[in-house]
Amino acid sequence: MTIQSYLLPHFTSYINGRWISLDSVSKSKVINPATGECLAEIPEAGETQTKEAIEAASKALNIASSIEQRQKWLSEIHRLLIENKEELGRIITLEHGKPLKEAIVEVEYSARFFRFFAEQLSHLNSKMLPESIRNCQWTIHHRPAGVVGLITPWNFPLGMLAKKLAPALGADCSIVTKPANLTPLTAIAFWTLLERLKIPAGKLNLIIGKSGPIGDVLCSHPAVRVISFTGSTEVGKLLIQKTAPHIKRLALELGGNAPFIVFEDADLEAAANGLMSNKFRSGGQTCVCANRVYVHKKIADSFAKLVTQRVAKLRVGDGMDVDTDIGPLIDRAGFDKVAQHVQDALSHGAQRLIGNDPAKPDHAWGNFYPPTVLMNVNQEMLVCQEETFGPVVAISAFDSEEQTIEEGNRTQYGLAAYVFTRDPERAKRVVRKLSFGHVGVNTGTGPTPEAPFGGMKQSGFGREGGLEGLFEFCETQVVASP
Ligand code: NAP
Repeated sequence: MTIQSYLLPHFTSYINGRWISLDSVSKSKVINPATGECLAEIPEAGETQTKEAIEAASKALNIASSIEQRQKWLSEIHRLLIENKEELGRIITLEHGKPLKEAIVEVEYSARFFRFFAEQLSHLNSKMLPESIRNCQWTIHHRPAGVVGLITPWNFPLGMLAKKLAPALGADCSIVTKPANLTPLTAIAFWTLLERLKIPAGKLNLIIGKSGPIGDVLCSHPAVRVISFTGSTEVGKLLIQKTAPHIKRLALELGGNAPFIVFEDADLEAAANGLMSNKFRSGGQTCVCANRVYVHKKIADSFAKLVTQRVAKLRVGDGMDVDTDIGPLIDRAGFDKVAQHVQDALSHGAQRLIGNDPAKPDHAWGNFYPPTVLMNVNQEMLVCQEETFGPVVAISAFDSEEQTIEEGNRTQYGLAAYVFTRDPERAKRVVRKLSFGHVGVNTGTGPTPEAPFGGMKQSGFGREGGLEGLFEFCETQVVASP
C-alpha cells in the first residue's frame, strides 16, 4: 500500500521549481524495513535530469538574494519543520525504521540548523581591513560558492540534509540534492514544505535516482563548484577521484570507528548511561556511535554488568510502536554485516553476555538484530577493524593509558571518540593524543549545529555546523583599490 501523507503529494524529483514527470523510466521501490511494505515507487532520474537541474541551478545564481531575505527563508524553514515534526517523523520512521520518538528528535535537530545559520549570516557581510596597505583599501567578500551538489546517506534522512542545505542556502548557493535511494521520501516531504516559501525556481533541486549517473554528472559538470557528501569512505574516495580532473571543492563526512574509553576512576553509572544513549540511537547505525569500547581491566566486569542490565531492557520492534527502543536494521546487507561481525568475534574468543543468535530472515526486510554485548574483544576482530553499524557493544579490557590511546587511534578513521574519567588532567592529556574530530569527555553526546563537526584521517575533511560549516559554501574574494 502506498504511503499516504499530506507532505507526499508527489513521488518524483523536483527540478527548476516543479515536480517532474518521468513516466517512462524505471522506478525504485521504497520499502518499510520493519514490514516489507512498499511505501512508494519513484521514477529514477538520471544523467539528463541531473544536467537540467544543474543548468536551472546555474541560472538561479543570477538572482542574488539579500542576507535579510535568506535569514527569513531559514527562519521560515525552521518554523515549518517544527510545525510538521510529527508527520515528518512518521515518514522517517516508515522508511528508515528508527523509533518514532527518535525520528521526531531528528526533525527538531534538523530545524535547529536552520535557526542557527539564520543567526550567523551577518558573518557574511563584507569587511574592510582597518589599515591601508600599499595605499589601498582592502575589502573581503564572502561570495556564494555557486552550484553545490549535496549527497546524503539513509541513516539520518533529514538531519544529514539539513546540515548541508541550511548553510548552502544561507550562503546564497543554488542546490542540487541527491538523497539516499533507501530513504528518499523524507527529502520529498521536506521539498513539499520548501515549495511553500516561493524561493526562486532552480535554487533548490532534488534528484532521485541511481547514484552512479547522478554522481558522475555532479562530479564532472563545470558549473558544480562544491560537492558536500556524507556517506561511506569508499564512495568518498570515488568522489575524490572523479572530481580531481575538474578541481572541485569537496566536503566529505565519511565513516567512523569510534573508541569509547572508560578509565578506572570514571563514574561507571554515568559511563554506562552515556554508552547507552550513544550506541543505540538509530539502532547503532550512526557514524559517531561507539564501535569499540575500551574499559580498564579493574572495572571491566562491573562496567559490562551495568551495560548488560540496561541492554536487557531494550525493546526491539517496529519503530511505529510506542514501546520500541530499537527498530530493524536498514536492510538485509546491514543485518548480514552485523551477524558476520558477531560470529567472527565469537569464533575468535569473545564472550557474548547478552543477545542471542537471531534467526536469519528469509526475506529482504524485517532485519531485527537483538542488542548484543560482547566481552573479551580484541583488536584483530572485525568488530574493531570496521564500522559494525548495528546494536552491538564490543568491550575490550586495557591495562594502561598509553595502551588505550594507541589502540583507540589504531584505525584509518578519525570521526568521534569518547573518554570517561574523573581526572581532568588525564582527560586533557588523552584528548590531545586522540586523532578524532569530535571528542566527548564524560558524555556520549554527538554533534550540535553550533559547533563544527567533521573527521580526521579517512573520516574525511571539511566541517558541518558552526561558522566553519557556513564557509564551506562560500568563496572568499579580496578587493584592493586605491
Ligand atoms: P554510501 O553507500 O556511501 O551512500 C551515501 C550516499 O552516496 C547515498 O546517497 C548514495 O546513493 C550515494 N552514492 C553511492 N554511490 C555513489 C556514487 N558513485 N556517486 C555519487 N553518490 C553515490 O553510504 P550509506 O550506506 O548510505 O551510509 C552509511 C555510511 O555513511 C557509513 O559509513 C557512515 O559512517 C557514514 N556516515 C557518516 C557521517 C558523518 O557525518 N561523517 C554521517 C552519517 C553517515 P544510493 O543510496 O543511491 O546508493
